[in-house]
Amino acid sequence: MIHGLLGDSFSSLRMIWDELTVHREKVSWDRLVWHLGHVPKFSVIAWMAVLDRLPTKARLLSFGLHIDGMCEFCSNELESRDHLFFTCCFTKAVRAGVLRLCNLSRGALDWSEEFFWAYRQLKGRSLSSTLLRLV
Ligand SMILES: [Zn+2]
Repeated sequence: MIHGLLGDSFSSLRMIWDELTVHREKVSWDRLVWHLGHVPKFSVIAWMAVLDRLPTKARLLSFGLHIDGMCEFCSNELESRDHLFFTCCFTKAVRAGVLRLCNLSRGALDWSEEFFWAYRQLKGRSLSSTLLRLV
C-alpha cells in the first residue's frame, strides 16, 4: 500500500537508506538481549554490558577522567563490568538471591562463561526461558 502511494520515491528512499546504513554481521546472541517481551531499557543495558560499553569507572578512567575508580558497593576493587556483575561481594549476594528466587543454584563464573551459559540455556520460547531472560 505504502509502496503503491510512494511509487519510485519509496525505491529511492530505500536505496538511500541502504547506502547510509552500515551493514554488519548479525551476532549470535541478539535473541538473548532483544526478545519478545523485553524491557527496552534493560535490553539496552544488557547490550552495552555484552559489548563492555557500560560507563563503569574503569572505562571512565580509561577516557582520562580523574575520578576514584573504586567500586561504590564494596570499595575493594576497580569498578569494571566483570567486577560489578561477578566478583563484587555485594552484587554477588544480590545475584545469588535473584537466582534463588528463580530456583537456580549456581555459583558465578566469569563474564564470558556466564554469558555462554545463558546463551545455551535461554534459547527457545518456553515460558521459563522467557522469564529468565527478563531476570
Ligand atoms: Zn564491588
